[in-house]
Amino acid sequence: MQRYFIETGIEAARIIGEDARHIARVMRMKEGAEIVVVAENKAHICTITAFENDEVLVQPTGRTIPSPELPVRVSVACGLPKGDKLELISQKATELGMYALLPFEAERSIVKWDTKKGAKKQERLQKIAKEAAEQSHRTHIPVIHDPISFKQLVANVNKFDAVFIADEEDAKAEKRTRFAEKLKNVHDKGAKSILIIFGPEGGIARKEAQALLEAGAQTMSLGPRILRAETAPLYALSAISYEFE
Ligand code: SAM
Repeated sequence: MQRYFIETGIEAARIIGEDARHIARVMRMKEGAEIVVVAENKAHICTITAFENDEVLVQPTGRTIPSPELPVRVSVACGLPKGDKLELISQKATELGMYALLPFEAERSIVKWDTKKGAKKQERLQKIAKEAAEQSHRTHIPVIHDPISFKQLVANVNKFDAVFIADEEDAKAEKRTRFAEKLKNVHDKGAKSILIIFGPEGGIARKEAQALLEAGAQTMSLGPRILRAETAPLYALSAISYEFE
């Protein structure tokens, strides 16, 4: 069943904009057809009752679909990587249950987002996340934030129950710490929000790792192999899903 997100409560449900055009012109649905409408993070089965001025009016049937959301909110902070890697991260991490994406300006980030191009990129990433959320039957569309400075990232550390820095130096260390053990520990403590932080292609600078550790983060090793900047968040999200679900 097709799934559409709305920004109002289910009582006032109507589908507008591109989604309404999709229902009417692409799917060619008629009155009486059933669709899934996600309102306030809940998926409701609704019947289309009318098409009015490019809007689709729907009536909830009273039937709902259980939420597939992770039991913990996982925000992903990525040092701005090159090219279109954030697009891949936005799509795949949404499928894996990411709650929000926080790109940040890392010391070793080569790219910079200027205000005009940056706004367009953010819009595109948000659209990718919305489509991925629809296709993977999510009831939450991850929020894709504009890039923040490293200083802002550090200031955010105390807003989460647990914060992990994916540190390739930890991965190379002879006595590397096992992410699985650390995750089990935060799970046992009942963590509801986790922030996982990744460096860009050149990695996290030592002084960045130090500042994050001082703010309360801990390091995580994702195994002895060095993963690409876009692979590492997907590995970590999969491990979190394995531990928490
Ligand atoms: N040069 C490659 C690239 O171009 O993508 C590898 C980049 S790796 C240094 C980028 C980031 O992925 C690191 O800063 C770290 O956050 C994360 N990462 C990759 N492999 C890791 C591992 N085995 N353990 C922990 N973090 C890892």
